[in-house]
Amino acid sequence: MELELKTAKEISETSKKYNLHSWSVQGDLNPKVMSKAEGIYFWDGEGKRYYDMSSQLVNLNIGYGNQKVIKAIQDQAEKLAFASPGYAIDVRSQLAKRVVELAPDNMGKVFFTLGGADANENAIKIAKMMTGRQKIFSRYRSYHGATYGAANLTGEPRRYTCEPGIPGFIKFFDPYVYRAPIDFEREEDATKYYLDQLREQIIYEGRESVAAIVLETITGSNGIIIPPKGYLQGVREICDAFGILMVCDEVMTGWGRTGEWFGINHYNVKPDIITFAKGVSCGYAPIGGVLVSKDIAKHFDDHFLSCGLTYSAHPLGCAAGIATIEYYKEENLLEQSKEKGKLLGEILENLKSEHPCVGDVRYIGLFSAIELVKDKTTKEPLVEYGKDPEKVMKKILGMLVERGFTTYTHENVIIVAPPLIITEEELKEAMTIMDDVLFEVDKMIGA
Ligand code: PLP
Repeated sequence: MELELKTAKEISETSKKYNLHSWSVQGDLNPKVMSKAEGIYFWDGEGKRYYDMSSQLVNLNIGYGNQKVIKAIQDQAEKLAFASPGYAIDVRSQLAKRVVELAPDNMGKVFFTLGGADANENAIKIAKMMTGRQKIFSRYRSYHGATYGAANLTGEPRRYTCEPGIPGFIKFFDPYVYRAPIDFEREEDATKYYLDQLREQIIYEGRESVAAIVLETITGSNGIIIPPKGYLQGVREICDAFGILMVCDEVMTGWGRTGEWFGINHYNVKPDIITFAKGVSCGYAPIGGVLVSKDIAKHFDDHFLSCGLTYSAHPLGCAAGIATIEYYKEENLLEQSKEKGKLLGEILENLKSEHPCVGDVRYIGLFSAIELVKDKTTKEPLVEYGKDPEKVMKKILGMLVERGFTTYTHENVIIVAPPLIITEEELKEAMTIMDDVLFEVDKMIGA
């Protein structure tokens, strides 16, 4: 195939002229060109190399250029590139079997989507069909996708364009202990406080009108907020008490990111529905899904499942998913995530004690965040929520990128979530760049 764009400049300018880029003012953009990628690195149009310290959008868990996954997609494209979702095909059957087998043992079947947002859309529909109820609870400080229903689940500013919102979507506050209005003595006290509030809110909304509570098992892009002890168990108990379905969004936390196949495995809790995407195929081909419990699966044996997508369980996504799961197993990537995660945790704790600008660090597996503050004692955030007129966070990100470290930020938080294949040396080298940049941030706050 003859490509007409020869230089990086041409590629970038053409992209700016014809592509609408996500979440940005188009005129401000100067799209970076990615010319090649391998392992944990990618190179821009000028040949400069970057550590990909966010695994793109926390999806590229196995890194770039995985030949096994590439070959599986190529083989499937040759064999059968498409079959509509009603047909049984080998990769579709095999991936479903593997996903169900790796999930908590109460899971029965899976409905495949193309990504995370449509997984959440379908999870809400399934919860409504299953319970015959209307209301859906989800949390502030959450991201569940950008399509209309998923954006209505989302609790942070990315939902604002979908407001005034869909009736019956109710928000509640998550246990963000670092910024809780009360200084809890013990983690369990925070758990009790937030669960009591949730229980009361459900009662006031009408206990028999709530179909589902949807929550990220561990809050991802809103700052890697790890639930306090007993919280998820408590949500499970509330769901059981009121006949509500517990839906865990594992789009980011699934597939080894936290050191387990699913984040929920850390908590000994079995949700009714799990949504996933990202790491199941690591973006080599799009696929996501909705895992449902055996009870829900059984319900649809004699009830109509009103869900469908032309590209549900796309053969190329299924082939990529199978090969990716094989790779996780062959390379023991869950163990790697745990081990490298330990090292990352130590590095982050050091950064916290060394830098006045680091208020908090949170980490589990290779899923972590650095929360920046103006003052460690008052915890005043480096930028006010929803406001950054001086574009401070953009400047900090710019300093990291300039030094060859790419990731993304959200409000006053920097996400660090490298591919699970990162070596200890690479992790140490990359975090030295972070250390350098944090010294600059210390200067910004006058420390
Ligand atoms: N849910 C969570 C927790 C996510 O982090 C994301 C994306 O970042 C989504 C859902 C939406 O997934 P997608 O972008 O594949 O639609």
